[in-house]
Amino acid sequence: MAKLYFRYGAMNSGKSTALLQAAYNYEERGQRVLLAKPAVDTKGDRSIESRLGVTREVDYVIEPGEDAFAQFQRHRRESLDRDGVDISCLLVDEAQFLEGPQVDGLLRVALLEGVPVLAYGIRTDFLTEAFPGSRRLLEVAHTLEELKTICRCGRKALFNGRKVGDRFVFDGDQVAIDGEEVTYESLCGNCYLEESGNVIGAHPTLSPP
Ligand SMILES: [Zn+2]
Repeated sequence: MAKLYFRYGAMNSGKSTALLQAAYNYEERGQRVLLAKPAVDTKGDRSIESRLGVTREVDYVIEPGEDAFAQFQRHRRESLDRDGVDISCLLVDEAQFLEGPQVDGLLRVALLEGVPVLAYGIRTDFLTEAFPGSRRLLEVAHTLEELKTICRCGRKALFNGRKVGDRFVFDGDQVAIDGEEVTYESLCGNCYLEESGNVIGAHPTLSPP
């Protein structure tokens, strides 16, 4: 049975590297895969960039409002029409930016098309809240796999701190990829609390006084 996998982690946990490695493993066996990513991420346009310097173009971009199930079916048919080679796996980068119904579309790919889907993404934003795509993936994926990375203190990183220059910031939009000099640092829960002044989440009322 084909499954929908959500492989999640904090920033810098090597998700794109893991995705490209998974694609390579399929292709080494002579199998064909499709690579896709949501359009919201403008970081590398159509490319998947790993921190090790490996870059690869996606086969298609999933635009807002796009039917992710029909889109996969179209590309699968195209591949079969072109040279008779079927698709063995769909790999999706930056899956946190998918819309909820698009995640459901990916689940349908696994269930109805019988093709496994590997979705890679960040679980939570800089305010520790789930991205829409990640929330739906946590709800419906068959298998959840955590890609771990280490905080500066050596503990396992849990959250993504947003920095402007060398200062951590705790307000702003959920997505701030380009433009201002925003960077992210993966932090454990304790270091996050230290930097945020003991606040977790976008709702300061939920934190202790
Ligand atoms: Zn830490």
